[in-house]
Amino acid sequence: MSIQEHYRSRAKELLSAGTVKMVIGYGAGSTPDRRRPVFITSPDEADRLVLDTTCRTNLSGYLLREGLLSDQKQVAVFLTVDGIRSLNVLAAESQLDTSQVLVFGFGIEGDQARAIEGERAADFKSVIAAAKEQRKSQPADELQEKLEAMTPKERFSFWEGEFSRCIKCYACRQACPMCWCRRCVVDNNQPQWVNTSSHTLGNLEWNLLRAFHLAGRCVECGNCSRACPADIPLHLLNRRMADEVQASFDHYPGMDEAQEPVLASFRKDDPETFIL
Ligand code: SF4
Ligand code: SF4
Repeated sequence: MSIQEHYRSRAKELLSAGTVKMVIGYGAGSTPDRRRPVFITSPDEADRLVLDTTCRTNLSGYLLREGLLSDQKQVAVFLTVDGIRSLNVLAAESQLDTSQVLVFGFGIEGDQARAIEGERAADFKSVIAAAKEQRKSQPADELQEKLEAMTPKERFSFWEGEFSRCIKCYACRQACPMCWCRRCVVDNNQPQWVNTSSHTLGNLEWNLLRAFHLAGRCVECGNCSRACPADIPLHLLNRRMADEVQASFDHYPGMDEAQEPVLASFRKDDPETFIL
């Protein structure tokens, strides 16, 4: 049985038994190689679910739709390892309760999608630990290597140039599961902390502010870069921040739902003077 058939049949079973009220998965998109999120609530619709190598979007953010989990019922969702990590971060940040979430885990290897064993976030601990180890040996992509070879001044100019193309559509924010604030600081008008118009200063403020907000929380799912209509390689900025966090604190976000957020925790024996 293919992985797609396996999960269609599991979705039917769970919906028929009333174990879950919804399955959030992938369905056919507007072109043969595109997928769009689908929200299946009846067993008859389960055959709309698609699972193949084009299913890249991290769907965990849809779990935060207002009121979705407020009735304490369960929802099943298709997630890769990055998606499961974001589920753990969201739980650690008190945004959801993982006991209401059933995971249809999958990974993409070459030209194949394969199922990952487990159904509860806690079942994937060893898979996440392996991903943390693998990250250390992941080769940098071409642009990333170029950026590393630049002087800080050249790198700053590079990002200034990239951000100059930003149209402030906020698609990156909407697509990011970690951008869950009900009201984003950039939507605040009185006082206005961040310039809202699309020009050099406002763009730089927005993109740097977002990168800092994601430090130690980004799971590198790539939703932001895929959503950006200006093709700004946002994932490289987030990846660089993730490198720093891993090297400095050995912190890999989303290991489990009890993991302390790296920038909101401290050790009493920290030698730095900011600990009084
Ligand atoms: S910043 Fe981008 S890569 Fe990181 S979690 Fe958000 S969408 Fe995913
Ligand atoms: S998605 Fe791209 S263009 Fe839109 S606000 Fe984000 S960085 Fe700017």
